[in-house]
Amino acid sequence: MELISVIVPCYNEEESLPLFYDEIKRVSSEMKSKDELSFEFIFVNDGSRDKTLGILRDMAKKDNEVRYVSFSRNFGKEAAMYAGLEASKGDYVVILDADLQHPPRLIPEMYSYVKSGEYDCAATRRISRKGEPKLLSFFSNKFYDVINKISQTQIVNGAQDFRFMKRQMVDAILSMSEYNRFSKGIFSWVGFRTKFIEVENTERVAGTTKWNFFKLFRYSLEGIFAFSTAPLEISVFLGLFFCFAAFVLLIILLLDIFLWHTGWTQTLTLLSVLLFTSGAGLVCTGILGQYLAKTYLEVKGRPIYIKAEDETSQR
Ligand code: UDP
Ligand code: MG
Repeated sequence: MELISVIVPCYNEEESLPLFYDEIKRVSSEMKSKDELSFEFIFVNDGSRDKTLGILRDMAKKDNEVRYVSFSRNFGKEAAMYAGLEASKGDYVVILDADLQHPPRLIPEMYSYVKSGEYDCAATRRISRKGEPKLLSFFSNKFYDVINKISQTQIVNGAQDFRFMKRQMVDAILSMSEYNRFSKGIFSWVGFRTKFIEVENTERVAGTTKWNFFKLFRYSLEGIFAFSTAPLEISVFLGLFFCFAAFVLLIILLLDIFLWHTGWTQTLTLLSVLLFTSGAGLVCTGILGQYLAKTYLEVKGRPIYIKAEDETSQR
C-alpha cells in the first residue's frame, strides 16, 4: 500500500482550514476508493496568532490521518514547507496551500502523471494572472525575465508551489538544507522530470493573503541572491568601464598637450586619475566579490549532484 503525504503550511488560516479539510478528505477518500492508497495530512502551523493551532489539535485528536507540527513563531512558508517535507513519510508527497488556491481536486491527476513513471513531479502553472493588480503582474514577469537571464537555474514563469513529488525528489530537496530558501529555485535546481499542469488563477476562499508588494519585492531579491552571484560581478564591470573612460581621457589629454593647447590639461589630468583610481578600486572589490561568490556557494553546502537512477533501480 502506497502512502501519500499531504503537506499544508498554515499561517492564520482559521477560516480556511475547515473548508480545506473537508475538501482534502473528499478528494482523498475518492482516491482511496480507486487505488490501494493511504494518506497522512501534515499541517505545519507557522506561528499563527489566531485559532489555527486549536483547530489542528482538534483535527489530530479526531482523525488519526492528521498530524501537525507547530512552530514557536512565524518562520515563513519556506521553513514550513521544509518542516513538512522533513516530517513526511510518504512514497509521494504533495504540498499545497490551506486557502484552496491550490485545488485539491487536481491531486488525482498529478498522482497519475507521477505514478505512470513518465514524470517525477507534477506541478501547476498559472497561465492567467486574473484578479492580480496589473503593476504586480508586470513586475512579476520582469522578475522571471531577470532571474532566467542571470541564473543557471531556470525558473518557469507562473510555476506554483503546488507540487506532487515522488520520494526521491523529496529527499533531494531535503539534502539542500540552505537557510535562505527559495523553493521556486530549489524545485528547479534538483532537476527531475516535471509535468506542468496549466491552471487559471484561483482566489483564496477565506482570510487574507500574507503578501504585499513590498514583501514580494524582497522575496524576488531573495530569489536572485539565492540563485545567482551575478550582482557580485556588477562592480567589476563598472570598474572596467571607469578604467576605460580614464584611458580615453588620457588620450584626449595627450592630444591636448601636443596639438590642441586648450588649457584644460589640469582638469583632464585630475579627471583621468580620479576615474582610474576609483575604477581600479571597483575592479578589486569585484575580485573580492568573485571569491565571496565561491565561498557563498560552498557555504550553502549544496549536493554536488543528484542521482536519478542506477542499475539497482531496475531490479
Ligand atoms: N503561509 C505560511 N507562513 C507564512 C505565510 C504564509 O505558512 O509566513 C502559508 C499560508 O497559510 C498559505 C500559504 O502559505 O497556506 C500561502 O500563503 P498566502 O495564501 O498568503 O500566499 P498567496 O497565495 O497570496 O501567494
Ligand atoms: Mg494564497
